Amino acid sequence: MNTGAPETALTEAEVTAIRADFPILTTRVNGHPLVYLDSAATSQKPRMVLDAERDFTENRNSAVHRGAHTLAAEATEEFEAARATVARFVGVDADEIVWTSNATEGLNLVAYALSNATFAVDDRLRLSPGDEIVVTEQEHHANLVPWQQLALRTGATLRFIPVDDKGALRIDLLDEVITERARVVAFTHVSNVLGVINPVGEIVARAKQVGAITVLDACQSAPHLPLALRALDVDFAVFSGHKLLAPTGIGVLYGRSAVLNALPPFITGGSMITTVTMESAEFLPPPQRFEAGTQRVSQGIALAAALDYLGAIGMGRVAAHGRQVSHRLLDGLATIEGVRVLGAAGDRIGLASFDVAGIHAHDVGQFLDDRGIAVRVGHHCAQPLHRRLGLTATTRASGSIYTTDAEIDLFLQAVADARSFFGVAQ
Ligand code: PMP
Repeated sequence: MNTGAPETALTEAEVTAIRADFPILTTRVNGHPLVYLDSAATSQKPRMVLDAERDFTENRNSAVHRGAHTLAAEATEEFEAARATVARFVGVDADEIVWTSNATEGLNLVAYALSNATFAVDDRLRLSPGDEIVVTEQEHHANLVPWQQLALRTGATLRFIPVDDKGALRIDLLDEVITERARVVAFTHVSNVLGVINPVGEIVARAKQVGAITVLDACQSAPHLPLALRALDVDFAVFSGHKLLAPTGIGVLYGRSAVLNALPPFITGGSMITTVTMESAEFLPPPQRFEAGTQRVSQGIALAAALDYLGAIGMGRVAAHGRQVSHRLLDGLATIEGVRVLGAAGDRIGLASFDVAGIHAHDVGQFLDDRGIAVRVGHHCAQPLHRRLGLTATTRASGSIYTTDAEIDLFLQAVADARSFFGVAQ
């Protein structure tokens, strides 16, 4: 399906065919067909992914990277082939891909490695008092709290790029916030609350000017956008398999080889060493240096199957569909009185978060759930952003390649009906 021609959104027939691959989508919830609009929290999984995991587990299950037996060799080969598939998907080399359990672990891995003083590293990777770590006010807690903790451990100072009243990053303040003291600039590609796509190039350019390493949270971009990490020129990037049609328990940390080679380990133990004595240990080069312990083999293989599935559709078309989903959500919500949608107009993908005047987000979520419509309510692990926008909780609807226009319309009708139900409609 990927012709290289200008990318068109998926047709209704294509979405119908895609839906047939996702067993859960025929489920009924509270007497209604499931309308799953919580894909930004975790996506559903196609049969091919479930089959890949089961096939491996039933026929070739074995620990990788050790053991001389046939199954161990086959498992290792398949696991490494999965790594190569991930690398191709994001346009980097296989030894720049580190398996993690999720994006949160990847971010913690980098943050902890940067404070591991037991390993000889170049000065760029050692933080001390006076150094600065920069994040943004849009961040998910997973890309904020580990940096707060790193600042506490090292005496470095945490700074942030603020947002404006609509939640957009104040790119005009980049030079002011990212100074010569910055060592790390960690930021999200796509906000999990606003769905806005941030200007990676401008942030990376400024970070490079001052010699800071860059860490991209690609959790909400990897499922929706072609992700060319080399072209984006970041030093690190993380994403989670479970938001990308793959199982839970598998995630990815990309590290540019020059930086990854210089990075100390975080978790230590088996499978990441060359020689161990009772007093000391020598570590393997990346990626194994960062993969201590028995690996999540079936999950990695299933993630590769998920990326093959998306690749067959073509990420350009997946992106066109994601933009269409967010536009339909945003346009529809804008017509409902009393609804405040978060975020400015512009390039938005996959989701919309909103407040309904006079109704708590949890009540909105409950009302929708009664109709089989699954959305997320709360602060979406972004308390500082919600606080800045003057809210404690919002409702978020988020789609994927299996989201139809008809589902979005059912959702919009339900939001409008909630206003009458709770007596806030005029
Ligand atoms: N960053 C963003 C932008 C996210 O949306 C999420 C998941 N909600 C995370 C990080 C953390 O992902 P995980 O829980 O899979 O580690």
